[in-house]
Amino acid sequence: MQYDFVIIGGGIVGVSTAWQLQSRYPKKKVLLLEKESALSQHQTGHNSGVIHAGVYYTPGSLKAQFCQQGADATMDFCKANDIPFEQCGKLLVATDREEYHRMLALAERSQANGIEHELLDSKELLRREPQISGVAAIHVAKTGIVNYRQVTEAMAQQFVKAGGDLRLGHEVTGLDEHDDHIRVDINSNAGRLSINTSYLIACAGLAADRITRLMELPIDFRIIPFRGEYYRLSSRCNNVVKHLIYPIPDPELPFLGVHLTRMIDGSITIGPNAVLGFKREGYEQYNFDLRDSWETASFPGFWKLAKQHWRSAREEFKNSWQPIRYLKLAQKYCPQLELSDLEEYPAGIRAQAVMADGSLVHDFLFAESPRSLHVCNAPSPAATSAIPIGKYICELVSKSG
Ligand SMILES: Cc1cc2nc3c(=O)[nH]c(=O)nc-3n(C[C@H](O)[C@H](O)[C@H](O)COP(=O)(O)OP(=O)(O)OC[C@H]3O[C@@H](n4cnc5c(N)ncnc54)[C@H](O)[C@@H]3O)c2cc1C
Repeated sequence: MQYDFVIIGGGIVGVSTAWQLQSRYPKKKVLLLEKESALSQHQTGHNSGVIHAGVYYTPGSLKAQFCQQGADATMDFCKANDIPFEQCGKLLVATDREEYHRMLALAERSQANGIEHELLDSKELLRREPQISGVAAIHVAKTGIVNYRQVTEAMAQQFVKAGGDLRLGHEVTGLDEHDDHIRVDINSNAGRLSINTSYLIACAGLAADRITRLMELPIDFRIIPFRGEYYRLSSRCNNVVKHLIYPIPDPELPFLGVHLTRMIDGSITIGPNAVLGFKREGYEQYNFDLRDSWETASFPGFWKLAKQHWRSAREEFKNSWQPIRYLKLAQKYCPQLELSDLEEYPAGIRAQAVMADGSLVHDFLFAESPRSLHVCNAPSPAATSAIPIGKYICELVSKSG
């Protein structure tokens, strides 16, 4: 079998790319391969569901550009496809003097990114959110919420409608690049098969490094899984806040801190933290996988990272094991929450690229070979940004001829 484009990965980035490629090139044969029996089984289906406005990101970075374009594009897509979303706005709450200074720096960054925002003093914060206490806050009205599984499903429908071929339960196990094609080896329920494609695009999330290794690309990074554990607040708390409530994040880390998130189904989650994972696709707290853990432990970059951040890693483990400590993170800005309000909720696992020198990759990262393009790092807000990322990939592909 011969295809023009093969895309690996049925998360939101892969599906958005497949849909936009097929729409742009209606006569080309485009195939999307997903190893699970349904779409969105990993990061796309286990996240906070926030349509980010783009406050945090370094001005000029791909993250900043994609997020701003993505927020508008996602909301337009939802409107066009009758997908429920809500622009409930977000508050970034400073609870002490140190956070206040970091908050001001964040407000400057927001300004530099051209994001409309408002600074609130403690009185105004209390007026707008009577259950939230802090010394000051940034209000970003644009931020919204949505269910990204629904968004991905609608994109997949449009891909298939445009003539695309979507195969679930098809895991890519081998890749071999030749002058005029790439051979793709696949394992499926129906057995093993091989196909050829003129061009390959990999959007494999937690397996991004493995796919680049299959092609022996000269890029030295490893995906380190970071669990994002959540609780759901008991239904008595469903009206505790009107906005999304975020702490002021540590600028050294690419994680946003434990926040209160209103979900599109009316519930409220609290989370996620960022705990080192021992299984890339293991969602239970004590899941362990020997291969995954070995790949982390045998990577020198991991130990350099650990040396730099061992204190915050230790705190994250403690907060994960002791719900009372986890709760305290949110009580800093929402004191009325109680331990009995926390109910179980599924975790998500972030695919965080780490380079051999131990640096965390904050921005999107791509790698190329003559006939392939690999999304190596697609961290939050990649769900918000999936439409511009897909567009960007289409443009890179068309430039590569
Ligand atoms: C806890 C958490 C909270 C987040 N919150 C937000 C948020 O509120 N807003 C936001 O914008 N972003 C958020 N994100 C980020 C966002 O969810 C991800 O960046 C985004 O979903 C990445 O999409 P993806 O398609 O790259 O990866 P994934 O959704 O992980 O998809 C990759 C797919 O590739 C498939 N695959 C892997 N290997 C193979 C193979 N060999 N063959 C075939 N298929 C393969 C996998 O099965 C998977 O389905 C959050 C992420 C996490 C983990």
